[in-house]
Parts: sequence; C-alpha cells; structure tokens
Amino acid sequence: MSQGEVIILGGGPAGISALLWCHSLHLRGRLLERGEALGGQLLQMYHRLTDYPGLPGLLGVELRDRFVDHLAELALDWQAGCQVESVDLRSRTVRLAGEEISAEALILATGARKRSLGVPGEARLAQRGVSYSGTRDHTAYAGREVCVVGGGDSAIENCLILSRVCPRVTLIHRSDRFRARTSWLSAAEATPNIHFLPWTEVLEVVGDDQVEALRLRDRRSGDEYLLPTGAVFVKVGIQPNTDLFAGQLPLDPEGYLIVDGSQRTEAEEVYAVGDVTRPVCLSIATAVGHGAIAAKEIALRRLARSSV
Ligand code: NAP
Repeated sequence: MSQGEVIILGGGPAGISALLWCHSLHLRGRLLERGEALGGQLLQMYHRLTDYPGLPGLLGVELRDRFVDHLAELALDWQAGCQVESVDLRSRTVRLAGEEISAEALILATGARKRSLGVPGEARLAQRGVSYSGTRDHTAYAGREVCVVGGGDSAIENCLILSRVCPRVTLIHRSDRFRARTSWLSAAEATPNIHFLPWTEVLEVVGDDQVEALRLRDRRSGDEYLLPTGAVFVKVGIQPNTDLFAGQLPLDPEGYLIVDGSQRTEAEEVYAVGDVTRPVCLSIATAVGHGAIAAKEIALRRLARSSV
C-alpha cells in the first residue's frame, strides 16, 4: 500500500487530536470538517470545564481556540465548511464537491448530535421556547415556569441551573429510572422548586409564536393532558452522526460505530474515534485519547507492513 494521506472526518476533539498525533507520528494527516468551524460539541458547551487536565475553568469555545492555535502553530492541514458527498469505506475513497480523495487510512470522528423529541411543534418553536441548552439559555427564560425533559445528567444539571432563576421547574421523564448521577439527583430532589413528573411522555409542543404548553401522556394511566409552560428544555441525550457510513459498517443497538481496543472498525484501515463510538466515559479527555490511539495504530501497522 502506498504511504498516502490519513483522512480524518470530523473536527471535534477526537479528530483534532488524531490530526496532531498523525503529525507527531510522521503520518500525512488531513482533517475535513463539515461545520463552518472546528470544535464539534465544544461549541455547544456553555459551562466551564472542570475535569480536563491542566485547563480547569475554560469554556468549550476557549478550549477549541487553544486546539486550533495548536494546529496553526504546526501548520497542519484542515478544512472547515467541507461538504463530504459520500464515503466508500472499502476503497477508503472520500468524495467532495469537485474532488475525490483515496486515503491510506480513514479516521471517522463525526461525533454525535443532540437528540430531539421528534414531536409536533418542537422544530417549529425552536428558540421560541424550545431550547436544547439550559446552560446557554437560562437567563433568556428567567422568571418563567419551565419544563425539562430527560432523565440523565444533562436533564438534572439543567433543572438545577434553571431552578436558580425560574420559579418552577418540572422535570418530565418517561420512566422513574434515572441515568443521572446520584449526587445531582439528590440535589434536585432536595430543591423545593423542582418537581418530578415520571412516567410521562411529551406528545406535542403547543403554541402559536411561543411555547405555551406541552401535551403530555401519563404512561401508566394513558391519560392525556395539557401542562402550561413558558419553555421546554429538551435533554434526551445524543445520537451518533453515522449517516455517511450507512450500511457500510455494523452498528451497536443504539446506532454507534463498533470499534476494537485500537479504534479499528471492521473495514480495513478505517478507524472510528470519539463520541461516534459510544465511549464508556463520554468526555473530551476520552475523545482526545481515541484520536491518539487511532493514529498510533496506523503508524504501527504501516511500520509492520514496511518491515516484511
Ligand atoms: P443520557 O445519559 O443518554 O440520558 C438521556 C435521557 O433521556 C435518558 O433518561 C433517556 O431515558 C431519555 N430519553 C432518551 N430518548 C428519549 C426520548 N425520545 N424521549 C424521552 N426521553 C428520552 O444523556 P445525557 O443526560 O445528555 O448525558 C450524556 C452523557 O454526557 C452522559 O455520559 C453524561 O454523564 C454526560 N454528561 C456529563 C456532564 C458533566 O460531567 N458535567 C453533564 C451532562 C452530561 P431512558 O433512560 O428511558 O432511555
């Protein structure tokens, strides 16, 4: 196999780390990001980082800036606003408008996006009472009675943030089993203006120009009713961005790419890193580690091929 480019699809922390590690390991890396800027989910993190080693207190966008500065110092090859039309994983061919690239190895770092409820009214009323981030939008909805949907860390974290500025926060969850960490859940339960509505499904977001109510269904009784609300914060997890690879790789039951301990997928010289693989610990640190592992594996395999 010729010593060609390593093409990295996706410019979040995992892809950025992979590009840096390609450089360190003398691999010719090129990163393609479809968004207008690098950063991936860092661009949607509105709280300060607490657990990224050495950089406590940074905002997501500030960490992104440091990553980009690092790429610039090394004059690495990356491109944002890049529309990949298709990818053939077997031949490792990436088609862009007006360009086709054959890669020696591919690193899939396409990340994940926030999951929506997919109910009527949700998309129409986005940013008019439907929000996907209480961390970002809590001041915009201060003083209103609001709802949060979900049962994971994000939902509980949003409830706690909103409870400081809203008179009443109703947490709507489809069961009474919470994925959220116990300490946050206990704090929410002890907060007088947070009210839990378990076993409840959102059927519709109701309102003309602004969210006015949610149409809900009690999953135990089957009863449907309207709950007036000034806003709804949808915090129902994330889903992987795998559309480009549809039908080309096996997915796990939740739709994430399956990798081995070296970030290898089932396709020859195709690796996947970061949130698109459902890491055990979903974090920036994990994504960065994945990027390093994939680049190292590519370098080791190249070395093994050249020494036979
Ligand atoms: P999550 O842990 O996957 O939880 C998603 C929640 O949404 C679950 O309770 C799930 O219910 C519910 N849900 C999923 N689809 C739904 C639907 N269509 N309708 C209604 N409810 C639905 O997601 P997350 O809370 O966004 O957290 C994601 C990751 O980020 C986690 O690893 C979390 O620990 C991490 N996180 C970390 C921090 C931090 O460290 N500061 C903050 C926030 C999040 P079921 O349980 O019934 O499936």
